[in-house]
Amino acid sequence: MPSFDELKGEICTDVLIIGAGLSGLLTAFFLKERGVDCVVVEKGRICSHTTAHSTAKITAQHGLIYSKILKSYGKEYAQMYYEANSQAVNSLKKLCKAAECAFEEKANFVYSFNLNKLKEEAKALEILNVPYIYSEVLPLPVTASGAIGFDNQAQFNPLKLAEFLTKGLKIFENTWVRELKGTRAITDKGKIKAKKVVVATHFPFINKHGSYFLKLYQHRSYTLALKGAEKLRDMYVDDDKKGMSFSSFGEFFLLGGGGHRTGKTGGSYNELRAFKNQYFTEAQEAFAFAAQDTISLDSIPYIGNYSRNTPDLYVCTGFNKWGMTSSLVSAQIISGEILCEKKDYANVFSPSRSILKPQIVVNGFESAKNLLYPTTRRCPHLGCALKYNKAEHSWDCACHGSRFSEEGKVLSGPANGDLKMN
Ligand SMILES: Cc1cc2nc3c(=O)[nH]c(=O)nc-3n(C[C@H](O)[C@H](O)[C@H](O)COP(=O)(O)OP(=O)(O)OC[C@H]3O[C@@H](n4cnc5c(N)ncnc54)[C@H](O)[C@@H]3O)c2cc1C
Repeated sequence: MPSFDELKGEICTDVLIIGAGLSGLLTAFFLKERGVDCVVVEKGRICSHTTAHSTAKITAQHGLIYSKILKSYGKEYAQMYYEANSQAVNSLKKLCKAAECAFEEKANFVYSFNLNKLKEEAKALEILNVPYIYSEVLPLPVTASGAIGFDNQAQFNPLKLAEFLTKGLKIFENTWVRELKGTRAITDKGKIKAKKVVVATHFPFINKHGSYFLKLYQHRSYTLALKGAEKLRDMYVDDDKKGMSFSSFGEFFLLGGGGHRTGKTGGSYNELRAFKNQYFTEAQEAFAFAAQDTISLDSIPYIGNYSRNTPDLYVCTGFNKWGMTSSLVSAQIISGEILCEKKDYANVFSPSRSILKPQIVVNGFESAKNLLYPTTRRCPHLGCALKYNKAEHSWDCACHGSRFSEEGKVLSGPANGDLKMN
């Protein structure tokens, strides 16, 4: 990956993008293409956080989502969600071809052990006129009821695409935004005055607006890259967040799963290794990695104005483990808003939409439980109890998903500083 200097002193720009994951870089890329002066700041190295640990499936099929959106928001919104994401698939395909990033076209399948859910999704896709494949026979070591597939989806190497996107962008690495005063960013290296600010930090770190600490939680999952396993032609994922995913990438077979809400116990690497020992006896484990993504309460990302009262502040988050296409959709919506060219589908993703109260209550209850739990280690974000994660030797927050090393260094936000260990 190319490297970039850290910020020194004070600078001015029209648009400041905080966070150089895929969502931040794509937003900067589209703005730069239109001649907008923008700067990207990244607290570590570019794309070293969630984007580096993705299985990077490019698809408009985000679990069994269309029946959910149809039920909660109606046909028009479900159709717009599909349009936004199928356009994102096509745009990513074009970018990937220009970037030479191990791009491969494949079908994506979402399987389920619940036949009724599959039937409901198939019915929704017919209502929406979305082409799909239905299959009851799957080339997998799990006996699901069946799977729904979308043809002509893809996978790629997001780091190679990121490298391509950075050409000509103004980026500062190792520059950590600690505070925003309006649209003025105070970093640990200097200050940036901007007209508009995009918070593309995965979990938004500003608590004053938008109530993201109530509208989001984080879900962690684990991946083993196996060598010597039979190659799988297409990509498969369980609709259940705790389920498994299967795909091949080059010489590797990617076995994903062991997922759990961050800060809670779950299957982790143990579950994956037990599965590998049962069904992939000939294969060897080449790599193991874990990551977490932000989960929205209605399965639709939050993209647009940070809150109703912050016209110059934008956000993209809550990608629900479908952040490749969601990053592209974010970049389109946010660059469109900045250029006064609002996308037709922008309202579907608006962070200010009303979310059903029961979902907020469940998430709020989970947070309140951890806030009141008596323990000495507390998260510097909002004071929730931290739990020790034995599988990864870290201190994790079950309220909002911040993580810290054993020495107290912050590994994942929203906490925007290290843990005091005394
Ligand atoms: C195991 C796993 C598998 C996945 N597989 C898929 C898949 O197959 N297909 C798919 O579409 N999606 C997948 N996803 C989801 C996808 O990887 C993520 O949604 C996406 O990478 C998020 O990108 P991002 O730019 O929002 O965040 P990130 O990549 O996390 O980037 C945010 C950046 O902001 C920086 N930052 C944070 N705070 C600050 C600050 N205060 N100042 C400066 N910089 C800051 C961070 O250092 C980081 O680099 C998967 C996720 C997981 C966890």
